Amino acid sequence: TASRLLGKTVLITGASAGIGAATAVLFAKGGSNLILLARRADQLEKVAEAAYAAHRAASVQQGGQIVTVQLDVTDGSQVAALWSKVPPGLRAVDILVNNAGGAHGIDRVGDIQEKDVDTMFATNVLGLISLTQLLIKDFKSRNAGHIINLGSIAGREPYAGGSVYCASKAAVRAFTASLLREVVDTPIRVTEIQPGMVETEFSLVRYRGDKSAADKVYEGIRPLTAEDIAEEIVWAAARPPHVNIAEVFVLPVNQA
Ligand code: NDP
Repeated sequence: TASRLLGKTVLITGASAGIGAATAVLFAKGGSNLILLARRADQLEKVAEAAYAAHRAASVQQGGQIVTVQLDVTDGSQVAALWSKVPPGLRAVDILVNNAGGAHGIDRVGDIQEKDVDTMFATNVLGLISLTQLLIKDFKSRNAGHIINLGSIAGREPYAGGSVYCASKAAVRAFTASLLREVVDTPIRVTEIQPGMVETEFSLVRYRGDKSAADKVYEGIRPLTAEDIAEEIVWAAARPPHVNIAEVFVLPVNQA
């Protein structure tokens, strides 16, 4: 399994925290190279350090090249300029992990702020589409590649107070399923990861920085960790080339 990650180049959006950061570290441990994107450059550097350390500790001969790029996935001009910031040796990406995203507020429909609607769709949907478009032509011309999108339980089971977030993740689900069918006659693989509750900064963002409200969400449930989801992502990437994991729906044992 691990040998299938050796020397691969993995581009991860939202790599500065949570699931994206844990995924970066796990791919580095497996001998992959990394392109890490997020808006917080200082946080990205910390993740890169952790990934270098994981790569060194694993003593694998390949991989371990890491580039961080401060980038907002909602800004088309920043996305278009990405390759100018990536060394030529890392421009042939093997795996794209479209992970940047979040829920902004937990509000009833009549109370939702327009800016939160915009942020959720711009990040979770349009950002994911824009990175996919950036990579898909290259994947097609090289007849290779794997796109792994972060959906959510929210895209399958909408809940009150989550209308826009749930709609954004349902959009991710539909987009990913369409893409899978578009590339069915190629070796390109397409995977959607649908986590249940994962303890990350996600909850803090959803409750706009109110830590006690954010923590309350996990009462009575042992949430998944970012590492749990990273393992699913890396596992899907490490399947043999003829195996496509179309979707992974993964929940804490006490969430249904
Ligand atoms: P975190 O809030 O911990 O991490 C979100 C990441 O996305 C950060 O690295 C953040 O970095 C990045 N990000 C946010 N907006 C942008 C942007 N405009 N451009 C670039 N990067 C951005 O959340 P999680 O790790 O939990 O979430 C990761 C994914 O998993 C999301 O798509 C989320 O919807 C999904 N998910 C999470 C669940 C959970 O319970 N935690 C459950 C199901 C799905 P920065 O601020 O530096 O830009």
